[in-house]
Amino acid sequence: MMNNQKVLIIDDEKANLKFLRDILKDEVEVILAKDGNQGIKKAIEFRPDLILLDVVMPVMDGFEVIEKLKKEAETSAIPVIFVTGELEVNKEERGLKLGACDYIQKPFKIAILKARVRLHLKMARQRTMLAQLANIDPLTSVANRRRYNEVFDIEWLSALREKSVFSLVMIDIDNFKGFNDCYGHAAGDRALEKVANAISGQLKRPRDFVARYGGEEFVVILPDTSTQGAIDIMQACRKAVEALQIKHETAPVMVI
Ligand SMILES: [Mg+2]
Repeated sequence: MMNNQKVLIIDDEKANLKFLRDILKDEVEVILAKDGNQGIKKAIEFRPDLILLDVVMPVMDGFEVIEKLKKEAETSAIPVIFVTGELEVNKEERGLKLGACDYIQKPFKIAILKARVRLHLKMARQRTMLAQLANIDPLTSVANRRRYNEVFDIEWLSALREKSVFSLVMIDIDNFKGFNDCYGHAAGDRALEKVANAISGQLKRPRDFVARYGGEEFVVILPDTSTQGAIDIMQACRKAVEALQIKHETAPVMVI
């Protein structure tokens, strides 16, 4: 069964590349690299879900390759399996210490290699899913505060580096406690969800970001956006929320 995961194979011998590709090509997308440099480049370009790495290669051996992969932000989380003919136990230990997730020695049984590749790909899928869950507010489906902290740091550094401005907006729903008291918490939850949707619907650029900051508070990050630009976008958000026509009969009347 083919899934959409990618495996990068780095090996200096053509015959090995072909052999491993033939074993895996019916299950995953296979990318080949014939030396360490090409392997690192392809890892950054294609972001594979798993790397099979030969140890003995000229110019840059597998240990050097894994050290470089682990240092790069884009590739450090990609699991690496060493595939090698080396028999010395200390090499296996060295590979694992450098961050390899597994070590397969030749000669190996094809079924065993397949099973281990499948296992590591399954774990990679689970890690991705967990990371997504860890970033999302389950009630509103927008980002949570944990993710906001990460995005804020990224945008802050990027603004410093590019000497650009970004706008940060705090949004608080007025009289929300009164709404919950009047209509119940289930209705309050639905209102929060609708407001979150209305806000995210107005954020059009890929780096515009909204998170649920706390109870009835949202925070918006608008990279490369002046104060006036932020006001315009927020007026659009306010109108979108207004258009939801969420009734709140016990609230003092607010006119903006
Ligand atoms: Mg080799």
